[in-house]
Amino acid sequence: MKLFTIGPVEMYPRTREIGGQMVPYFRTKAFSTMMLETDAALKQLLGASEASKSVYLTVSGSGAMEAVVMNCLSASDRALVIVGGSFGARFAELCALHGVPYTALTLREGETLTVEHLAPFTGQGYTALLVNLHETSTGQLYDVNLLADFCRANQLYFLVDAISTFLCDPYAMDASGIDATIISSQKGLCLPPGISVVVLSERIVREKVLCKARQSLYFDFRVYIENFARGQTPFTPAVGILVQLHDMVLSLLEEGLATRLERVQALCRHFRTHLSGIPVHLPEYPLSNAITPLCFERKIAMELFQYLQESYGFYVNPTGGAKGSSMLRVAHVGDLRAEDNLQLIEAMRTYFKNE
Ligand SMILES: *Cc1c(COP(=O)(O)O)cnc(C)c1O
Repeated sequence: MKLFTIGPVEMYPRTREIGGQMVPYFRTKAFSTMMLETDAALKQLLGASEASKSVYLTVSGSGAMEAVVMNCLSASDRALVIVGGSFGARFAELCALHGVPYTALTLREGETLTVEHLAPFTGQGYTALLVNLHETSTGQLYDVNLLADFCRANQLYFLVDAISTFLCDPYAMDASGIDATIISSQKGLCLPPGISVVVLSERIVREKVLCKARQSLYFDFRVYIENFARGQTPFTPAVGILVQLHDMVLSLLEEGLATRLERVQALCRHFRTHLSGIPVHLPEYPLSNAITPLCFERKIAMELFQYLQESYGFYVNPTGGAKGSSMLRVAHVGDLRAEDNLQLIEAMRTYFKNE
C-alpha cells in the first residue's frame, strides 16, 4: 500500500514506531514539559510570536474550524468568507450555524482569486476574513499577501485554515498579520488524524476570545489557554499523537524548515514535469505544493482511482462535487520519493494504454 493522499499521508517510519509504543499517562511534569517544547517548536515553524497562544484540540480539522468560528467571532461581526471549494463552503456553513453574519465571496470553477474580487468589499464594514489558504478540494493556493493587504487596509481579523498548506508552502503567521492559524496532524505534519492546533495572535485573544460569552464546554478556548500555561489540556488529548507531534516538530527543526519545504516542492515539480503521455491537464490557477489536481478529458476519475488501488495498492485522492468524475488529486507530502512518482505515473500510463 502506498498513500499519495493528503490526510492521512504516507507516514515516516519513526512516526509509525512511536505509534507502536505504550501511550503514557499525561497529568505529569514530563508531559507538560514535552508539550511546552512542542509548542515553542511549532510556533517557530509557523512564524508565530512567542506571545501567541495555542489551543491543542483533539478533533479533526473541521472541529478546529468550528471552534475558531465559535471563539473568535460573534453576532456583532461581519465575516467575509472566501468560498472557492468545499472547505470554503464549510466555513460559510459554520458562520450561518453559529449566527455570525457573513458574505461568501464565491469563485467560479477554475477561477483565480485576484485583487479585483476583493475590491468591492473594501470599506464595507467587514470585521473578519475567513479563508482556507490552500483550498484542498480544488488545489488552489490563494495569494496570502493579497489577503493580508486587504485585511490590514480594512482592519479585519485574518483567520486562516492553513491545514493543507503548512509545511508544504511557505507560511509566516506574524509577518502576514494572521490572527488565527488552524493546522491538523494528518496533513503536512504527516501524523495520524486526531489532533488540530489553533494558534491565536495576542490581539485576537485579548479582543475577542476573552470577551465572548461561554457557549461550549469542550470548545471553550479560554480553558485551553489557561491550562496550557503549564503545558496541559483541560480534557484527555490524543496523547499518542502528541508524542508523535513532539518528535516530528523537533526533527523538522533539526532538518530545517527550508529543507522540508524544498523536498515537498521538488517532489511536486518532479511529478508535474513527468506527466507526458497521459491525457491530462492541470488547472490554471496557482497550485499548492501539497497536491497536484489532475483534470482528465473524460469522466474516468473513479475508474482510474479503483484501478490504481486494486492493481497497484496506490491510493490517490478522489474529488467531491461536480469535478469528481474527471478529477483526481495526487499528494506530494509524506514519506514519498521520486521513484514513487514514477511508479504512479507508469501505472496511469498503463491504464490509458489498456483502456
Ligand atoms: C483536510 C482539511 C480540513 C479538515 O478536514 P477534516 O476531515 O475535518 O480533518 C480542513 N480544511 C482543509 C483546507 C483541509 O485540507
